[in-house]
Amino acid sequence: MDLGITGRAALVTGADSGIGLATARHLLAEGARVVLTDLDAGRLADAAAGLGGEHTTIAADLTVPDDVGRLLEEARAAYGDPEILVHCAGITGPQGPFHELDDDAWRTTLDVNLFSAVRVVRGVVGAMREAGWGRIVLVASEDGVQPYVDELPYCASKAGVLSLTKGLSKAYGPDGVLVNAVSPAFVETPMTDAMMEARAQERGTDVDEAVESFLDEERPLMALKRRGRPDEVAAVAAFLCSERASFVNGSSYRVDSGSVATI
Ligand code: NAD
Repeated sequence: MDLGITGRAALVTGADSGIGLATARHLLAEGARVVLTDLDAGRLADAAAGLGGEHTTIAADLTVPDDVGRLLEEARAAYGDPEILVHCAGITGPQGPFHELDDDAWRTTLDVNLFSAVRVVRGVVGAMREAGWGRIVLVASEDGVQPYVDELPYCASKAGVLSLTKGLSKAYGPDGVLVNAVSPAFVETPMTDAMMEARAQERGTDVDEAVESFLDEERPLMALKRRGRPDEVAAVAAFLCSERASFVNGSSYRVDSGSVATI
């Protein structure tokens, strides 16, 4: 299927690894011109080294408003106003029982996972509206609708991302800017690698056993009984960025092998 986005200017955050990098790869394969952004210039350059197509990298910390401003200026200078935004930057944040997590734990998680989406969307949506065409995909999580008690700041931040997605879709859909979310579960990226390494250490097992026990005990509804691959999420994100998704707005696409219990 031709996604119809050849030459479109795209901005992908959280792009030096995992779902962001895989999404950049999909968009490049479709002929989009892609700005990849993440925290560290060196890691970004290493990640982008293997990519084909027209792309550039710009390091920025999305929790710093001035950095976001500079990122958008440099992105515009590279390929013009972003017409596509895929916002993947995120952190697991501090985990533990609710009564042990202080304000900083909440603030840090919400700042990266929710506020950075607010900042970046605010910076790109004006030009998309003027052009009458835009695609925004925010990466949420299964946790946004199905909270796990040991990571409530993360879950609440992702519920916020889903609410933001729906609200933005209503505000800007009439202008031709379509806003959707992708909600993955347990994908093989540095984020879950770190979780599984910690679990393996706690239990005195290897990482494969940690993954298996996590699936059995914590994610029993994941019917495929494996971690997802970043490209399996990226394929859905790329579709939502496309001309083919021209009547899709305000949706959350689950890419979770069944982890969320409801239909
Ligand atoms: P990842 O760790 O590979 O990617 C997250 C990226 O965000 C990292 O490269 C990190 O450097 C970047 N980032 C963090 N803080 C930032 C900041 N302040 N400014 C700029 N960039 C920052 O993990 P991933 O799994 O690919 O995560 C991508 C998105 O998918 C995240 O929003 C995550 O919450 C979401 N998600 C992942 C899973 C999963 O199982 N891996 C499941 C559900 C949702």
